[in-house]
Amino acid sequence: MTAKGNATDLMHFISKQMRMSHIYQPVMIKTLLQSGGEATTEEIATSLLAYDQSQVEYYTLRTKTMVGKVLTNNGVVEPIKDGRQITGYRLTEATHTDAQRAALQAMCDKAIDEYIRKRGGAIWGHRGPDSGYVSGSIRYNVLKRAKHRCELCGGHEDQVALHVDHIIPRSKGGPDDISNFQTLCMTCNTNKRDTDDTDFRGILDSYSDRGTDCIFCEIGAWRIIADNELCIAIKDAFPVTEHHTLVIPKRHVADYFDLYQPERNAIEAMLHEQRQSIQEQDDTVTGFNVGINSGASAGQTVFHVHVHLIPRRDGDVVDPRGGVRGVIPSKQGY
Ligand code: AMP
Ligand code: ZN
Repeated sequence: MTAKGNATDLMHFISKQMRMSHIYQPVMIKTLLQSGGEATTEEIATSLLAYDQSQVEYYTLRTKTMVGKVLTNNGVVEPIKDGRQITGYRLTEATHTDAQRAALQAMCDKAIDEYIRKRGGAIWGHRGPDSGYVSGSIRYNVLKRAKHRCELCGGHEDQVALHVDHIIPRSKGGPDDISNFQTLCMTCNTNKRDTDDTDFRGILDSYSDRGTDCIFCEIGAWRIIADNELCIAIKDAFPVTEHHTLVIPKRHVADYFDLYQPERNAIEAMLHEQRQSIQEQDDTVTGFNVGINSGASAGQTVFHVHVHLIPRRDGDVVDPRGGVRGVIPSKQGY
């Protein structure tokens, strides 16, 4: 197609030639068509943004939990509801002349400009490029996994604005796999970024810490039956029952209580995955014991955290009652 191309060429391009790896091309063409054939890069980027469901969801949440609340409390707006669900807002003072509206909009523009001039780009730091793109479905699943709570402070989405974030940033090679995401509230996320930046980077680096003379750090790749970003699963070499599996953080750390929350999330996800895999392989499995020995007094023999996933079957012992209470054999029954 040449610069003199006409509508038929464009139709041909859109219907026959356009090879899409994302929505970008049709959005850009549409934006150009809508604005008389040319647009600034910023206008094109803004059009793309309107399709980014994760951003729209994020700002929907911010509207409801923050700005909408503040303006409602100040009597400036009132929520529009569908049952208990807030679907929009309306100004309480609604009868403005065109001139009043223009004057009010100019006052808003001035307040926005002054704020941005004073604070600079830092006000968007929490949405910086490091956050990467989080698709709507990943966001949905990560939030669901976190039960709609911040994974650090436990704040629920009704109280805090939640942010789905890469654990290992994309800029450091972190993948878009669900195991590499966590749900943090704005406060925990901002604190992490703004004040604990060095520490946080230290944590990221330490995910690759490996111990010397540690059997789990040196486990042969062929023994690993599954892995995700932060942990692996292996079969226990001396199984208590068939399919006894160990879920082990990649980082060399002795004690369960020294794990970072993202490692706990990774372990949790792996336990679910392994449980499902065992159930698919063996339909005699009717229950599980999930256990961690923390410290030599509690029976830990390998000082690299591992979670035991021990399949159980009806009748595998005479009386299973009490399960893990059996760590003190005389106290198993009660
Ligand atoms: P703990 O007593 O909780 O520290 O458990 C250590 C577990 O690691 C035991 O269940 C062992 O059977 C298991 N184990 C020890 N050495 C290996 C190994 N080389 N590969 C796999 N599992 C092992
Ligand atoms: Zn280790």
